[in-house]
Amino acid sequence: METTEEFRLTYMQLQINAELIPKSILVGGKIHDYISCEYCQKRHCVYSNKVLNDEEEYNYQQALESYSYSCGVPIFPDDHYLKETVFIRIQINCDSLIEILYYSSRKSGNYPICYYCEEKEDLITPSQSLKERFKQIYPLCEVCYENKKDFHTKGEIKTSKHVSKKRKI
Ligand SMILES: [Zn+2]
Ligand SMILES: [Zn+2]
Repeated sequence: METTEEFRLTYMQLQINAELIPKSILVGGKIHDYISCEYCQKRHCVYSNKVLNDEEEYNYQQALESYSYSCGVPIFPDDHYLKETVFIRIQINCDSLIEILYYSSRKSGNYPICYYCEEKEDLITPSQSLKERFKQIYPLCEVCYENKKDFHTKGEIKTSKHVSKKRKI
């Protein structure tokens, strides 16, 4: 019995150290804020498992001001009491793309940014035919387009057009 208990404790400890964000928090509705990496300037989502009260919000802002943020680094030091409440993905780096959930978030301060480089101006308008083919089309900027990037898309719409194309013999 004791060994089992001991094992479980170690296992839990490992989980905490890995700072895995609970799956239930990785949803658009739990996005609390956005922060930018000081190196690549990419925006990342900050998730919170509850609505912060004034004091927590204040301490969160204080932490942002005290520590510089860069991709892959937690926002709080290890002993900060908010680290179990407010999360950011740490398995990312400056080459990571913009988080898909960013685009489903409707929090104030959310604006369209290029999926590849986070450019917010000079975004390309997807063609009508692309819009008809996919449910989700993520923003693409002119520079990335010139660098041969394509629109990142999700959810292909199955149309009956393919069927009707089949020639009857
Ligand atoms: Zn970065
Ligand atoms: Zn771009």
